[in-house]
Amino acid sequence: MDLSNLKTKQLYINGEWRDSKGGNLHPVINPATEETLCEVIQGTLDDVDDAVAAAKAAFKEWRHSRAAKRQALMHAIADGMEARKQDLIHAVSQALGCPPHITEWLHIDGPIYAMRYYADRAAVMEETEQAGHSVVLREPVGVCGFITPWNYPLHQFVGKVAPALAAGCTMIQKPSEMTPLQDYVMTEIIDAAGLPAGVFNLVPGAGPIVGAALSSHVDIDMISFTGSTRAGIEVAKSAAPTVKRVTQELGGKSPLIITPDADLEAAVRWGCEDVFINSGQTCTALTRMLVPAERYDEAVNIAKKVAEEIAMGTGSDDFMGPLSSARQRDIVRGYIEKGIGEGARLVTGGSEIPEGFPQGFYVKPTVFADVTNDMAIAREEIFGPVTCMIPYKDMDEAIAIANDTEYGLSSGVWAKDAETAMPVVRRIEAGLCFVNGGEFNYDAPFGGVKRSGNGREFGAAGLDEFIELKSVQLPE
Ligand code: NAD
Repeated sequence: MDLSNLKTKQLYINGEWRDSKGGNLHPVINPATEETLCEVIQGTLDDVDDAVAAAKAAFKEWRHSRAAKRQALMHAIADGMEARKQDLIHAVSQALGCPPHITEWLHIDGPIYAMRYYADRAAVMEETEQAGHSVVLREPVGVCGFITPWNYPLHQFVGKVAPALAAGCTMIQKPSEMTPLQDYVMTEIIDAAGLPAGVFNLVPGAGPIVGAALSSHVDIDMISFTGSTRAGIEVAKSAAPTVKRVTQELGGKSPLIITPDADLEAAVRWGCEDVFINSGQTCTALTRMLVPAERYDEAVNIAKKVAEEIAMGTGSDDFMGPLSSARQRDIVRGYIEKGIGEGARLVTGGSEIPEGFPQGFYVKPTVFADVTNDMAIAREEIFGPVTCMIPYKDMDEAIAIANDTEYGLSSGVWAKDAETAMPVVRRIEAGLCFVNGGEFNYDAPFGGVKRSGNGREFGAAGLDEFIELKSVQLPE
């Protein structure tokens, strides 16, 4: 697909492509080549008002639409996603830098599955519950504003748009300035599927302008935000005066506890690859690897080998592309320098430009050993291909280190087997735990505790976020 065919200089409001009321164009850069892929319109406050008015008007009928109708429309969207899978892969991989063959299974297949999953859950909205002499009805929360990040852009789009459609909500979606292209493909798919005008609206733009306007808008009933903890706090603050519902999917600094009886080679390999995939730009990345002290040296050697085997580039044999932007590359390099300055041992990688990559925002897969949990590289989200290996004496210490973080998004345990892992799993403060390499599951709730946010996406709980309950007290 030629990306210049997408209508990126326009917004999608009330079922039609429209010019912005005064917005500027913003370049989208390919981080592997550093070339400009295309320019994308940045919406204005007037554009937000128009989109919200369209969503508000559409909600009146859409909220009462039959679940079977919404289900059919959503399956039509999923069909469109399958038909245009190559376009979605291209749009994500070109702007993010993830190799296309990895983009397909990491970024596209799951969201297609999730669109169908929520299509089939729309019927839940018509179920009622009896509570004594009351009947409890499920109703859609209303007009929703969505703000998504750049690192898993289609996953985040579908995690919000699909349950909202299933519930009967209407919405305004604002993608990240850096990776808005798959949203344009999705908007074409949604347009072709024939959703009523105003149900879905696309207004790209700057976070502090379009994102802030959505958060504070008096006619928006719910804001669902995914991104940094910093911006998530801003969103919640601007949302507070209108008492809208706010869900926040934020950052993480997640631990992987490898138990003394684990298969060390398998555990360390999986733990490193989990950090290096998507160039380390994964909110759930298990960036603090906790290893029993008596097996520490062995584990560090395995991590070194794994990191040095990682093939960089965007080809069909490559595992890791560039960082998503020059800014992100510089932040990650800065953390690597900081780690060295803090006294961590650089086992492999480093902040220099990797050999053979004069172009593109590449950073070497980097392993730090002898990390203590008070170092900045162990406390702050680096969001790059950097893993920190921390030794522990016994399980109490491992749990204490794992939980000594302001975040609580993800975690991992690698033990002899799932059964022996469970007592450890129960002691970790996090919304997710990956056991012995268990995979991401779109049927299960996803979200964090502590400063990693609140609310859940995906699974049945992901739909609950878009539901208001109405208790009808009947005469006895
Ligand atoms: P970011 O917070 O800079 O931006 C995220 C989105 O928020 C963008 O669309 C941006 O335009 C918008 N935004 C920025 N400032 C805003 C403001 N003041 N008001 C309203 N909107 C604003 O984050 P990012 O750099 O795009 O993404 C990386 C971050 O996202 C990491 O911290 C990562 O852990 C987190 N993340 C979390 C999850 C999760 O589900 N928990 C998933 C993916 C990414």
